[in-house]
Amino acid sequence: GRETVLRGDDSPNEEDRSLRPQSISEMVGQLEVRERLKVVVDAAVKRDEPLGHILFDGPPGLGKTTFATCIPKDLGVNFQLTSGPALQAPKDLVPYLTNADERSILFIDEIHRLPKAVEEYLYTAMEDFRIDIVLGEGTNARTINLQIKPFTLIGATTRSGMLTAPLRDRFPLREHLDFYTNEELAEIIRRNAAKLDVTIEDDASLEISQRSRGTPRVANNRLRWIRDYVTSKADGHITLDLAHDAMKMQEIDKLGLDNQDRKYLSTIIRVFGGGPAGLEAIAHTMNAAPETLADEVEPFLLRTELLVRTPRGRVVTTKALEHVQGFAR
Ligand code: ATP
Repeated sequence: GRETVLRGDDSPNEEDRSLRPQSISEMVGQLEVRERLKVVVDAAVKRDEPLGHILFDGPPGLGKTTFATCIPKDLGVNFQLTSGPALQAPKDLVPYLTNADERSILFIDEIHRLPKAVEEYLYTAMEDFRIDIVLGEGTNARTINLQIKPFTLIGATTRSGMLTAPLRDRFPLREHLDFYTNEELAEIIRRNAAKLDVTIEDDASLEISQRSRGTPRVANNRLRWIRDYVTSKADGHITLDLAHDAMKMQEIDKLGLDNQDRKYLSTIIRVFGGGPAGLEAIAHTMNAAPETLADEVEPFLLRTELLVRTPRGRVVTTKALEHVQGFAR
């Protein structure tokens, strides 16, 4: 059926969509964030005004896009989506701004990657709902100042530190998303197992949650793999033993680290004597992109105290040494 069609598309976003909550009330965890959002959403509805601009930051896969897609659904308004790298010049942004209906949401993912000219162009759009557009070319060109509909900008970034102060200050609500607890992830896994038409034991969902790096997107990926595994090797019901076997086959360890995570730690240990080592040097040795390591690998290692950042570079902790050595044995 429909599931097959979605799974047939190998873009992770397509797959994610089938599991994505459709309303903020369907989201698990992030309680404080949800409550603050509810306040501003309720107030905007009662005052009959557009919602103030919102900025989400935090590591990938924690729900920034999910929040951004649920808010317009809850408000019953239109939604447009683009991203920092897709907006190379102000003219790329103009259609989104002129198409925006009153109170609709414009979502810009990776907003820290907006070129400076585009960022500055956003300022008056966000503040006064006005933009300058150039009509005609060459000596006939003239600039007109256009009033646009009051809209809400939702920005998402994995690097709030890379945002300029003037842009950051234009978001009245800024929310940081943090890693989820194992119980919250287990709840997401239980719900998504049902959506994926597979049954799962409670101890299995808890075990998967413990190996999902505090990240719903990782939990979803684990669950999909385990579903395939139990469909292929068993009767399609996920037990603790089968979940273990499936994750073992993917080389996901007790802490939820995968090959790339362990390779990162073992590179620092083997090549840099445990550190301090610079991100660029580590990335170069691993033949990986520094941004990928900084965004997708390091946050969880830092949070679980396997890694520390010092002014002189990254250093692995005793816990990481023991973990990596234990794994090698
Ligand atoms: P990126 O920055 O890469 O866009 P993200 O932080 O926006 O990442 P999402 O794409 O929103 O992450 O989340 C990934 C998936 O995790 C979603 O499709 C959804 O299935 C699940 N998910 C995220 N947050 C929640 C939540 N609070 N409750 C239930 N499921 C969630």
